[in-house]
Amino acid sequence: MKKRVVILGGGTAGTMVVNRLHKKLNPDEWSITLVDKDNMHVYQPGLLLLPFGVYSAAELVKKRNNFFPPGIEYVRAEVERIDPEAKKVHLEDGLTLDYDQLIIATGTTPRPDQTLGMDDPAIWRKSVFDFYTLEGSTALRDALEEFTGGRLVVHISEMPIKCPVAPLEFTFLADAYFTEKKIRDKVQITYVTPLEGAFTKPVCSKQLGWMLTERDIKLEPDFVIEHIDPGAKLMVSMDEREIPFDLLVTVPVNMGADFVGRSGLGDDLNYIPVDKENFLSKKYDNIFALGDASDIPASKAGSVAHFAIDLFAENFVEHVNGLPMTHKFDGHTNCFIESGNGKGLLIDFNYKVEPLTGMFPLPIVGPFSLLKESRINHLGKLAFRWIYWNLLIKGRWIPISDAMSMSGKNQVTQKEGVGANASH
Ligand SMILES: Cc1cc2nc3c(=O)[nH]c(=O)nc-3n(C[C@H](O)[C@H](O)[C@H](O)COP(=O)(O)OP(=O)(O)OC[C@H]3O[C@@H](n4cnc5c(N)ncnc54)[C@H](O)[C@@H]3O)c2cc1C
Repeated sequence: MKKRVVILGGGTAGTMVVNRLHKKLNPDEWSITLVDKDNMHVYQPGLLLLPFGVYSAAELVKKRNNFFPPGIEYVRAEVERIDPEAKKVHLEDGLTLDYDQLIIATGTTPRPDQTLGMDDPAIWRKSVFDFYTLEGSTALRDALEEFTGGRLVVHISEMPIKCPVAPLEFTFLADAYFTEKKIRDKVQITYVTPLEGAFTKPVCSKQLGWMLTERDIKLEPDFVIEHIDPGAKLMVSMDEREIPFDLLVTVPVNMGADFVGRSGLGDDLNYIPVDKENFLSKKYDNIFALGDASDIPASKAGSVAHFAIDLFAENFVEHVNGLPMTHKFDGHTNCFIESGNGKGLLIDFNYKVEPLTGMFPLPIVGPFSLLKESRINHLGKLAFRWIYWNLLIKGRWIPISDAMSMSGKNQVTQKEGVGANASH
């Protein structure tokens, strides 16, 4: 009888891994099953740009199964629970799937229900919006079009969130958008974060914080939200600070899938504790978690999933053959940051090295500049959509190494932050 690998989630990580494993595993020995609750793959980085009219919703969605290799089984169903002792996945329709190896790639989801008052029907998607879902981003596009002035608050509820730079990018883009509409002087923009600065890492936080000041955007750090008062349109923090808004663009608490919690596999936020170098569950040696679903101390980003899967596929084959896994993930993360007016920045870092200035991928010639605004960085971000659909999720080779390189990076002294933990 064939051995069974079951992959839960057919988003960025699940689609990449199914394409990689399909090439690596002998079809006479292995069957591969992928489960996802729907057949709609959303290009999530595009959700940042949709509210500003850069993309339409239709440009960001494709059918998932078009990206799965032939010969795998695709089960369209919601996962209800895993029974790790019995090695079974229970689906909501009552069906069960047996597995020998399980890969969980069910990502993370914005949960406005986790903050008192946030999803109150009087304000949700009327004056409080998210842009982490297709519905939210589309509704926000209409709200921005109608906004003629007042208090715009951009807010992070709690870390970790996926793409931790996205709210900052949204803020820069909003500044440029209202400037272009010639109503910037009528819009007061405030950036509200639970972090102590604009971002987590010293060099990066300094640069991005300065970019907020330069754009006359107020930074409200250390704001741990307690509730939203829907009637007064007010955010209230644990230490009783109050921030009024006319338009609130929030990133709600992000959480792993509920079935992870129900199955006793997750932490408080339903993320799966794994070895940060090889993604093997700390509890079960036949369960892995990839992408945003795991608790690794790296950014929850598509780039992390991509670098991770490069080496995961090699490790997986070693593991199922009873060999030690020889490839170790270093936490490599690479993200473009839109800064408005057709420009952007790029950051490249890992578990140990924080984002530094310099050039990427090549020293001196780049062409991308690290932690510095440039037109080419913005074009890189736009080009990424094509790379995503045509190369990345199909598991094709991309000429950026899974391990972070120091080539082209300007070293800074210990005091300035080299060696600071790169987790978000
Ligand atoms: C606005 C925004 C901008 C971003 N920008 C960038 C960027 O510039 N660069 C970057 O690298 N990353 C970016 N990201 C992050 C990136 O999109 C995610 O990190 C990446 O998609 C994670 O992949 P994943 O496979 O772990 O999760 P996902 O791609 O979210 O896939 C999870 C899958 O699991 C399925 N699923 C969940 N629960 C169940 C269940 N119970 N049963 C069945 N199926 C289930 C879902 O349907 C989904 O298909 C951005 C994200 C957002 C929201």
